[in-house]
Amino acid sequence: MSDPVLDLIQSKNITYMPSGADYLIKCLNPEHEDSNPSMRVDRVSGIYHCFSCGTKGNLFKHFGLLTNTVPLKIAKLKEKIKELKMSNMGLEQLPNSIPYTRSFRGISTDTLKRFEAFYTSIPEMEDRIIFPIKDITGKTVVYVGRHTLSNGNPRYMNYPRGVQIPLYPPCAPKGYSTIVLVEGLFDMLNCVDNGIENVVACFGTNTLQSNTKMKLLPYKAQGVTKIFIMFDGDEAGDKAANTLKPLIEAEGFLVEIIKLPDGTDPGDLGREDLLSIKEYVK
Ligand SMILES: [Zn+2]
Repeated sequence: MSDPVLDLIQSKNITYMPSGADYLIKCLNPEHEDSNPSMRVDRVSGIYHCFSCGTKGNLFKHFGLLTNTVPLKIAKLKEKIKELKMSNMGLEQLPNSIPYTRSFRGISTDTLKRFEAFYTSIPEMEDRIIFPIKDITGKTVVYVGRHTLSNGNPRYMNYPRGVQIPLYPPCAPKGYSTIVLVEGLFDMLNCVDNGIENVVACFGTNTLQSNTKMKLLPYKAQGVTKIFIMFDGDEAGDKAANTLKPLIEAEGFLVEIIKLPDGTDPGDLGREDLLSIKEYVK
């Protein structure tokens, strides 16, 4: 992953020390005799602040470089996340929750456990395998329950209703610069179960068509540069993928559509197919 702030610090031969989310350097203010480094530089945005003399600025600007607006947005996002963490408690655990300890529709118990599958006896969510859907702050924003019977109606139920579901999982795995978008929760689970770690469910094909920027920003913040769209192999999936491609490209990502054979969706693919896809989307 590129690290423009560190690159700049090193190219200027500045002595630095990592310190939390910052680098600690000697103050850039020539009038401040700073023998004991007291200037903090945000590792992502390059924004600096001397806690001794109060000098503030941006490292890129300081050295006459254009600031990249992406790190600034990311810094703002991080602030926002911090605020959210403090202000928003998230949903409480549903009463009478019991962890789901079997496999379900071919998804292993390990994967179900990892995504904290459970069931509950509250009437609204009875007979469902339920997953807490968390936002980037780690708070549960909604529970999604799939009926355990194949003819159960409705197949999916959200609790509470009417909550906007974020893309899930909200983070790319460490070290990945790509993610694969799939339509449904079980598409995602099946991919993860077969070793594709960088897969993200968007809960339907339309959810990403509005607010695209904000929804993708967390992934950008983690260094994702390319997004594969792997929707269901049907007309609706193709159409949605083609609509989405330019919207995602407009946010500065490379986009590639993986077209599945007609009638297949990522939730039905077997291990062999998924292994080859895994190699491809690394
Ligand atoms: Zn200073």
